[in-house]
Amino acid sequence: MNDVKTPGGENKPYIRVDNLKKYFHTKRGLLHAVDDVSFTIQKGETLGLVGESGCGKSTLGRCLIRLLESTAGHVVLHDEKTGVETDITKVSSSVMKELRKKVQIVFQDPYSCLNPRLSVWELIAEPLIVNSVFTGKNAMRARIRELMNTVGLAERLENNYPHELDGGRRQRIGIARSLALNPEFIVLDEPVSALDVCIQAQILNLLNDLQKQFHYTYVFISHNLSVVKHVSDRIAVMYLGKIVELADYKELFVKPTHPYTQALLSAIPVAKLDVQKERIILEGDVPSPIDPPSGCRFMGRCSYCQDICRKETPDLKEVLPNHFVACHLKGA
Ligand code: SF4
Repeated sequence: MNDVKTPGGENKPYIRVDNLKKYFHTKRGLLHAVDDVSFTIQKGETLGLVGESGCGKSTLGRCLIRLLESTAGHVVLHDEKTGVETDITKVSSSVMKELRKKVQIVFQDPYSCLNPRLSVWELIAEPLIVNSVFTGKNAMRARIRELMNTVGLAERLENNYPHELDGGRRQRIGIARSLALNPEFIVLDEPVSALDVCIQAQILNLLNDLQKQFHYTYVFISHNLSVVKHVSDRIAVMYLGKIVELADYKELFVKPTHPYTQALLSAIPVAKLDVQKERIILEGDVPSPIDPPSGCRFMGRCSYCQDICRKETPDLKEVLPNHFVACHLKGA
């Protein structure tokens, strides 16, 4: 557990992640997908998780709800009503089955995450049946209709199959499935990146509306900073398995402090013709996450690299109030 201030605010957090690690054994060595990350999430907030492909953000999202077993560390869920704290990395499978009702995920690809042999009705009914939520058919029918209504799916589509629907409607099915058990916490793993731009806006607005109505807590994973900015309260930037910067979304865009975040933001196109933006071009490739070098993971691409960066891994430190950065040159 961390003895330093945990990134995430002053109130008792809904979720506390302590020193979480997820390593995979591969033929070439140990792949450090998520490497010692700590942060907290407040009830009802949206934490954006952003970074390049392969930085570990989806693996982290899956570890948060124990779709993947973590290698080390803790993910502690705090129940506001009872005050009980549960470390979901340690509970038995029967306790985890109960907890699954509280923690859900929406997957990236609405084309492959739905069973093509099931109708819309059967797909939404599946989590209710698996968890034996209803004994009577009428109550289940009413709940499925309610869920379809909540996510904006017309009742006439209940007998259709996924291949008969467009990407936006398929993603609405995925969202309805995740809401079926009345969750509190939902990991949204690139939920709009496989969709057309106009459909993306519809799904983002739907997720926003649902959060306002039901007070869900979200982790929103994306490689697209503009999308993350649109939905997040705070944003964590990941690079090669580590969080390198974590701040309020406005602050991150106004005062990006880590050199990697600065480079990411400089790559966002500006829609005004008269505004010239200086693009920071990163040299070199992302290093392999297999047996990564000691020191700062970003050193091979950072134009400010110093001797200390090659020797010591920078900690995620608070450089401004609730603004955390992992860089030797920032903060005290
Ligand atoms: Fe660059 Fe060093 Fe900061 Fe890493 S610790 S981002 S190499 S200046």
